[in-house]
Amino acid sequence: MIDLHTHTTASDGHRAPEDLVRAAWLAGLRVLAVTDHDTTAGIAAARAHAVRFGLTFIAGIEITAVEDGRDIHLLAYVGDETHASIQTLLARQRAARAERVRQTADRLSRLGRPIDGDAILEAAERLRRSVGRPAIAAAMVAAGHVSRPQEAFDLYLAEGRPACVPRTGPSVAEIAAVIHDAGGIVSLAHPAVTRADARIRRWADAGLDALEAFHSDHRPEDTARYLALASELGLEVTGGSDYHGDGRAERSRLGFTTLPSERFDRLIAREARLLPDASYVSRRGRK
Ligand code: AMP
Ligand code: ZN
Ligand code: FE
Ligand code: FE
Repeated sequence: MIDLHTHTTASDGHRAPEDLVRAAWLAGLRVLAVTDHDTTAGIAAARAHAVRFGLTFIAGIEITAVEDGRDIHLLAYVGDETHASIQTLLARQRAARAERVRQTADRLSRLGRPIDGDAILEAAERLRRSVGRPAIAAAMVAAGHVSRPQEAFDLYLAEGRPACVPRTGPSVAEIAAVIHDAGGIVSLAHPAVTRADARIRRWADAGLDALEAFHSDHRPEDTARYLALASELGLEVTGGSDYHGDGRAERSRLGFTTLPSERFDRLIAREARLLPDASYVSRRGRK
């Protein structure tokens, strides 16, 4: 089984990279990509453990692009995550995240729901963690302003709510250009959640390589729709659980939402450089 979308404690996942790899192996996965939000801090440890467990490992990043003020999540898969232009892009993304945490904390103070934004940023720095609204939601629960993280989103942090700071950042085309320059590919994450179908054709012309047709939040009809669209536009197909931890719905657990191996074989046949160590041999014996 193949899972190309997972998170660790390097962003908002609950398992440390080593722990995620062990859980993935126990769940029966044989190919794993780690795709934390705007960071590769979890990749080295995850890769080292994947080698020990005999898992094929792919380095990934879930990068937030911005189009007309809306967040568009892209999955970048890269052969060498240390490439300077990738790290420059991600450092900028994380600086924007930190600034957004400060501005969100200011808004929450003015709304009479103060949290310590600096403490969130200091902890993130110390733990080399990429921060975002989930960390703010956790702080709001800890401060007693809300009873659950979801309530923090519903009342304050979700798009259109009073403490949601508009985001600025690079477009899909700009991110695709950086990732291509570094030898990687870009897939549109969970398109049925993002709901920007009218733009996908334009993004395909602007460098998008794939659609994440298989995702834990996709219904079977969503998957079918994006498989058809990928085929129509000549895009590859990716898929994964978007695993953050065991707390969520069963289909977002490891081993429940996966990419069919023939789809992965096709992707790797075209993009062999994503596996620099050539560790993957398909069931047909192809490298
Ligand atoms: P950020 O990186 O700050 O944009 O936060 C994005 C993360 O927050 C997503 O990956 C989700 O895990 C979570 N999130 C975003 N919107 C919501 C929402 N409306 N309800 C619950 N969680 C959300
Ligand atoms: Zn996340
Ligand atoms: Fe996402
Ligand atoms: Fe994700």
